[in-house]
Amino acid sequence: MTSLEELRRVNARCIHCRACQYAYSGEPDKEGETEEYTGMLQGCPAGIYYGWEGYFNSGKQWMTRAFLNGELPASRELLEIAEACTTCGMCETQCENYIDTVAITEALRAAVIEAGVEPLDKHKGFAVRVGDDGLRNPYNEPRAERTKWFAGKVDNKDAKVAYFVGCTAAYREQQIAEHTASIMDKLGIEYTVLTDEVCCGSPILRTGQRDVFRKVMEENKELYKDFDLVLFSCAGCYKTFRNDYPTMSGEPLPFKVRHAVEYVYDLVAEGKLKIEKPYSKKVTWHDPCHSIRHVGIAIEKEILENSENWLLDSRAGKKAKEKHFEIPRVVLNAIPGLELHEMYRIKGDSFCCGAGGGVKAQFPDFALSTAKERLKEAASTGSEVIMTSCPFCVTNFTHGIEALQKEEQETGADLSAAGSKLEVVELLELLDSLL
Ligand code: SF4
Ligand code: SF4
Repeated sequence: MTSLEELRRVNARCIHCRACQYAYSGEPDKEGETEEYTGMLQGCPAGIYYGWEGYFNSGKQWMTRAFLNGELPASRELLEIAEACTTCGMCETQCENYIDTVAITEALRAAVIEAGVEPLDKHKGFAVRVGDDGLRNPYNEPRAERTKWFAGKVDNKDAKVAYFVGCTAAYREQQIAEHTASIMDKLGIEYTVLTDEVCCGSPILRTGQRDVFRKVMEENKELYKDFDLVLFSCAGCYKTFRNDYPTMSGEPLPFKVRHAVEYVYDLVAEGKLKIEKPYSKKVTWHDPCHSIRHVGIAIEKEILENSENWLLDSRAGKKAKEKHFEIPRVVLNAIPGLELHEMYRIKGDSFCCGAGGGVKAQFPDFALSTAKERLKEAASTGSEVIMTSCPFCVTNFTHGIEALQKEEQETGADLSAAGSKLEVVELLELLDSLL
């Protein structure tokens, strides 16, 4: 486990320059298509919503330093500020000092809880339910019904590939699980789904409850250890397995991992898959923070960790990160008829949907306000569809659009420029219909 104390030296690199508050912090002259979206723009959902320094990453880094130095005690107030962050990582891609901002925020949350402060109400509920042997998911659903949606052969140990479904697709957004399974069938992958699958632990790790996280991480690692490849449809589960399990356990994963969109990308890039059916809509793409930005950052940092020549490898790291950011774009551009209209804040500078890091459950108004901010940016591209590949982004955008439509009905105002007419589409769902 990476404790806050272990991250002390990383935190000490923060010079409080506040570059991490802005998307395109290194490109003040960057030109956008519209007056509203141009130049350096604020990019921290927490700072924008709460409006003062403590909620921006720069403030959190300094509070962390004060906490580590014993100048700021563990308190409910400190935990509330630390938890009101979507852990989106926008700040991390801006920081020229390579500070692991999200790891520090998550470790601060854990340290405050370990110092005796109760986890916030909704977050506590996650850990209780995931720790319960009859549930093992944050949604309070029976464990025995986890694979009820699946018509294929469960627990097939002869398969070399396993699909880790995740709690949200297993219980709340089953169409995502069904579309992913259908894609795998169409691609001729021999795979299985395991009845003993448990929550990946993301919601409890993010919210600082590490004991239960450790337990589910070990269970999942043991469960999948004999597979060659584990595939994911959830951006959060994927990031947790790919980035957090090795960091938190101190050992590499015993199997390969890939998000289903990356799997399709591999086939498209190698010329093994050609999408023939058209999709003639104007689409804007929302990068899920977990599977795009966080994985991109990890790819860059993995190159730098093993570097003997920082100058050369920092360029190689940036290049590899940028290549990762292109993955969904390569897939979208392979779909005939699809017109991709990019938003202003994309890739490392992408603006979060607002749902992550335990925010949607504990701070629903903050989550909704952030979704609306992103929907406005999406609408500014003139697109009909906002497309993404993460169940949390889909849910939060859907709630944002519903809130806008309700406002339209109540006031008679036309909120199409705010995104009320946008359609939210999951990329895996679209791919299933095109393959
Ligand atoms: S985290 Fe990095 S970008 Fe943010 S204030 Fe500190 S040094 Fe500056
Ligand atoms: S992770 Fe996202 S919400 Fe949290 S401080 Fe950084 S930019 Fe703000």
